[in-house]
Amino acid sequence: MSTNRTFTMIKPDAVENGHIGGILDKITSAGFKIVAMKYTQLSRRDAQAFYAIHKERPFFGELVDFMTRGPIVSAILEKDNAVEDFRALIGATNPADAAEGTIRKLFATSIAENAVHGSDSDENAAIEGAFHFAGREIF
Ligand code: ATP
Ligand code: MG
Repeated sequence: MSTNRTFTMIKPDAVENGHIGGILDKITSAGFKIVAMKYTQLSRRDAQAFYAIHKERPFFGELVDFMTRGPIVSAILEKDNAVEDFRALIGATNPADAAEGTIRKLFATSIAENAVHGSDSDENAAIEGAFHFAGREIF
């Protein structure tokens, strides 16, 4: 995956609350092109592997329960400066701290159930994209 790409998930809370369309509209309106996308559900093993960096954190069990409780939308997005621009579009981890107009301000309910994931570096974007998609699923 090239460095103008990032990886995202629309998390189970946002899917449950009917926000897939609203979030995809914010993403495409901000100039991101969808180059891979699927509607899927993480197994516990998937979620533990995806968020392994947080495995010593006190909220890890809660995070795995949350991320596996229902379907998600995962996608690879393309834009110049994709990782940084997408983190700006989604807003702070805690929606209470997220800027007006950001996806988390609009659609998230709490620091735990915060509607979307966004990769935090080019390196992790490549790892996360490859975790979710086979090469032939990426356009
Ligand atoms: P993400 O990696 O999902 O894009 P982030 O990079 O903004 O989110 P991280 O610090 O990587 O935030 O945390 C990963 C996820 O763990 C958060 O998005 C949230 O769902 C959950 N989380 C983070 N902090 C807490 C907390 N204090 N209590 C409960 N859940 C938390
Ligand atoms: Mg993170």
